[in-house]
Amino acid sequence: DIVGDIFGDFGDLFGFGGSSRRQGGPKRGRSLQYDLEISLEDIMLGKTLTIDVPRLETCQTCHGTGAEAGSKPETCPECFGRGQVTRTQGFFSMSRTCPRCQGEGRVIPKPCNDCRGQGLVRNVRQIKVRVPKGVDTGTKIQMRGEGEAGVNGGPPGDLFVIIHVAPHELFVRENNDLVAKATISFPQAALGTTLEIPTIDGTTKITVPSGTQFGARLRIPNKGVPYYNHYGSGDLIVQIQVETPMNLTEQEKELLEAFVQVRGEGEGEEHSGFFDKLGDKIFHRHDDHDEDKDE
Ligand SMILES: [Zn+2]
Ligand SMILES: [Zn+2]
Repeated sequence: DIVGDIFGDFGDLFGFGGSSRRQGGPKRGRSLQYDLEISLEDIMLGKTLTIDVPRLETCQTCHGTGAEAGSKPETCPECFGRGQVTRTQGFFSMSRTCPRCQGEGRVIPKPCNDCRGQGLVRNVRQIKVRVPKGVDTGTKIQMRGEGEAGVNGGPPGDLFVIIHVAPHELFVRENNDLVAKATISFPQAALGTTLEIPTIDGTTKITVPSGTQFGARLRIPNKGVPYYNHYGSGDLIVQIQVETPMNLTEQEKELLEAFVQVRGEGEGEEHSGFFDKLGDKIFHRHDDHDEDKDE
């Protein structure tokens, strides 16, 4: 399950388990974090992946006792299992961690060869992770008990898989919408056209209306990223870029100049003044701004 607060499960990292450790009692294993990169394609449907997790596991040779087969850990003869030694000098008595057992309260006369008496060995474990559809970068998947093994009968820690969605060559994700850019010619923008647009799992057709401006965003509903944990998907947004033609032939120049004449945008015409154009620009900017706010 996904958790919002990762720190609640890391208590033992900050030393809260210290007092039980001193008496050689059960100690919970460390929780681990694994950064998993996943493709946009894989989060559209969700996917189960196998990851390699290096972690400390209970030594199978000694079953975590740290003692060689046939032997057992013994109570420390120096501190009699207290983990601390006290020295009295006059009126003062001073306690310190037992140097013989390092405060564990017990010693292992014959340490296990495989774990050198630690009771734990480092393994690389293959773990299956089910990544639900719709997750995003930063989503945490908590896998209980898949962290490092505990000692002295303590429970294992948890594994937190942190999702990182890899950048895609065609789509940029905006929440649950996917944004793709499409470049059209300026006659297509003026007259309107139909485009075939790639989706994450194929293609779809979109109608570009006549008079489409540079930067216009056309929406294809429900072709975006599915919502995590509830029904439905975001949209696919096609952001239009209009290409200005370069290296015009003589014929093309003549046609464009004829267009300008017909359109009435030639020199000396009513709407060609610098201040009029500036006025138009400010007006359009203002419009764009309002549209953004409505989204
Ligand atoms: Zn061992
Ligand atoms: Zn001791």
